[in-house]
Amino acid sequence: MADPDVSSQSGGYDVELFVETPDYDLICTICQGVLRCPVRAACHHIFCKKCILQWLKRCRQQTCPCCRKPVNQSLIFVMFKLGKAIGRLKIKCKNEIRGCPDTLALSEQYCHSMSCLFELIPCPYQGCRAQLLRRDLEAHARHCEHWRQPCHMGCGTVLSHRTQAQHNCYRQLRQEYEARQRNHRVIAVALQRKMRRMQSTMAHMKRQIGLICESLEVMDDLEEVEEEELGDNSGSGSFSSSSNSSS
Ligand SMILES: [Zn+2]
Ligand SMILES: [Zn+2]
Ligand SMILES: [Zn+2]
Ligand SMILES: [Zn+2]
Ligand SMILES: [Zn+2]
Repeated sequence: MADPDVSSQSGGYDVELFVETPDYDLICTICQGVLRCPVRAACHHIFCKKCILQWLKRCRQQTCPCCRKPVNQSLIFVMFKLGKAIGRLKIKCKNEIRGCPDTLALSEQYCHSMSCLFELIPCPYQGCRAQLLRRDLEAHARHCEHWRQPCHMGCGTVLSHRTQAQHNCYRQLRQEYEARQRNHRVIAVALQRKMRRMQSTMAHMKRQIGLICESLEVMDDLEEVEEEELGDNSGSGSFSSSSNSSS
């Protein structure tokens, strides 16, 4: 039936990948894997697209590997619905062996591998040959001697772990200086406001004192006047009373 040479090259999904053993109907006769991009020939047999095209390329008679009926390459139809149903089958993460416990839909495999913490990836820093699990990347980056990053202050200096500690960034110094300046300005404005308030309080107090002094002077004057009047009145009073008594 299936040519071993062809099946070794072609494209179904490894049966071992699936959480539950896939239905026999979903197995490609050519590669013995689960159908990847399933297509149906005129004889109704279904194969991975890649598998049947490679089969037809190699076999001169252009016949179905299952029933030997002739297969016309232009009469092969992609089975989208079946492809989608297969995409919904649950698989284990391919990094299960490295510790990933996740199961996911077959169609999410690519997305998952982009974020799987157990995916083996090369260190992203140029010149580093280390291969590591994604979850270890951060710890590795802290020590990787090929680690390079532009200064976060935006001064344009590219730093390594060695130069980072010694980097005396002019931007940072300027920013700190400007922050201090701003702080001083705020304090100066607050002091000025306080001074103006004190000045106005003092002016108010001066006015009050002035008024008090004025009223004291007025009272003095009044007292003087009263005293004078009292002096006059006592003389005339005694006079008048004596005149009253004499009459
Ligand atoms: Zn196949
Ligand atoms: Zn057939
Ligand atoms: Zn994973
Ligand atoms: Zn590295
Ligand atoms: Zn800098």
